[in-house]
Amino acid sequence: MSINLSQVAAERGIEYFLISFVDLFGHLRSKLVPARAIDGMQKDGAGFAGFAAWLDMTPAHPDMFAIPDPESLIQLPWKPEVAWLASDLYMDGKPVEASPRVALKHQLDKAKALGFRMKTGVECEYHLINEDGSNIADSKDQQNKPCYDQQSLMRQYPVIKQICDAMIDLGWSPYQNDHEDANGQFEMNWDFDDALKTADRHVFFKFMVKSIAEIHGMRATFMPKPFSHLTGNGCHAHISVWDLSGKENLFSGDDGKYGLGLSSLAYQFLGGIMQSADQLTAIFNPTVNSFKRINAPRTLSGATWSPDSITYGGNNRTHMIRIPDAGRFELRLMDGAANPYLMQAGILACGLEGVAANRDPGAPLDINMYEQTEKLEGYKRLPNNLLDALRLLDSSQTLRECLGDDLINAYVKLKKKNWDDYTYHLSQWERDNTLDC
Ligand SMILES: [Mg+2]
Repeated sequence: MSINLSQVAAERGIEYFLISFVDLFGHLRSKLVPARAIDGMQKDGAGFAGFAAWLDMTPAHPDMFAIPDPESLIQLPWKPEVAWLASDLYMDGKPVEASPRVALKHQLDKAKALGFRMKTGVECEYHLINEDGSNIADSKDQQNKPCYDQQSLMRQYPVIKQICDAMIDLGWSPYQNDHEDANGQFEMNWDFDDALKTADRHVFFKFMVKSIAEIHGMRATFMPKPFSHLTGNGCHAHISVWDLSGKENLFSGDDGKYGLGLSSLAYQFLGGIMQSADQLTAIFNPTVNSFKRINAPRTLSGATWSPDSITYGGNNRTHMIRIPDAGRFELRLMDGAANPYLMQAGILACGLEGVAANRDPGAPLDINMYEQTEKLEGYKRLPNNLLDALRLLDSSQTLRECLGDDLINAYVKLKKKNWDDYTYHLSQWERDNTLDC
């Protein structure tokens, strides 16, 4: 064991460790372990009852153990006596196949065997809202086109600065913060890195933003569409694949066809994602609410900034995939509810399938997808709701082969229950529209 957590605790003044895992619904679960007990936990893991989280287990299952990854350690910048650890789930001495971090690590191993190392950056949009979630926190933030609004950005400077300073101290190399397209919405960008590191940081970022917002008397939400008339919270990912040394970007190059600075490998990978995008939607857009962000009517600002179809283009934000620059592409489908590990596992699994099958995504489109779709033929639309998306995932041979039956079965089963719960709930809309039938 190269990193001794007990020793790290003594050196850095850590009193407690959060041994955490993310379940299939993306919920972050933890045990708070005093430093005096970390030795045993590092070796054997912290025990959890799997049924108590969103995992496909029953109360009769034996204990599940979260074995922390010492490489993931992050000391809480706002509470440095506590350190956070991501972990992998084990039961009966074997990894839990239907768990998100284990699933991503399997895909990374597959990529490694092929000589590939995926690097990603994520853009986690969020809203700062009031405590009960009924409105945005800043009542003065009212412009119809509030994107990049300096005055509204600076009114939230104390929160933004505390989060950005924390990322600087943690060595994440943050480089910009802005007010996004919805009132009360913000985005903060830090450097891209290996997919597992980015996924761990994505988990921690959500925890950190929520915690620091609470310190300032607010609440932060990553909900895909918290307000129906405003732009929703996306979680775009910038994707590239490198050689195993991490020095050569294998997506860089130009196959001569389209002049967008992407290699043939990048187009195959992109083609794999396009081929399975409708089946991936249940993973990328995992809540009932997610479908109010994609396929949405125009917002107050003039655009939703989210896709409704499976298309790609150059530097054009109306497509599901944008190629903003040489050597990478941006996948704009995922939202703030996407599971940080499962979304990366899905991207990599389908990208590798595209490479294996030599998929050709066709030519990029240079049209405004919000206005000019009547000129298009033969393109696929995204599913309209969570149930349609789950049915596509359930019947996807590709995703079953790539991610395994254990994971797909567990995910679809739990999410379908979630859909049923939503369907059986009588809404005010139904009463308003049906009482006088
Ligand atoms: Mg954005």
